Amino acid sequence: MKKKLCPQCKIAAMFVKNAEGKRLLVYVTDQAVVVPKYPEESTDGFDLSEVFCLGCSWHGSPKRLVDY
Ligand SMILES: [Zn+2]
Repeated sequence: MKKKLCPQCKIAAMFVKNAEGKRLLVYVTDQAVVVPKYPEESTDGFDLSEVFCLGCSWHGSPKRLVDY
């Protein structure tokens, strides 16, 4: 499974937030699906419409991530 990358710094490590501001580490597949980094975690309750890059200040729709 391929991971999409940040359009600015080209890393795959992203996080999403929930209503309480809690962060969940994720990556985004080449199908633009947001997947938890750790399989035992759940994206339930998290806003998957916006992902935040761990490496730079970029954030936005998972569809805006790029292929390597
Ligand atoms: Zn970045």
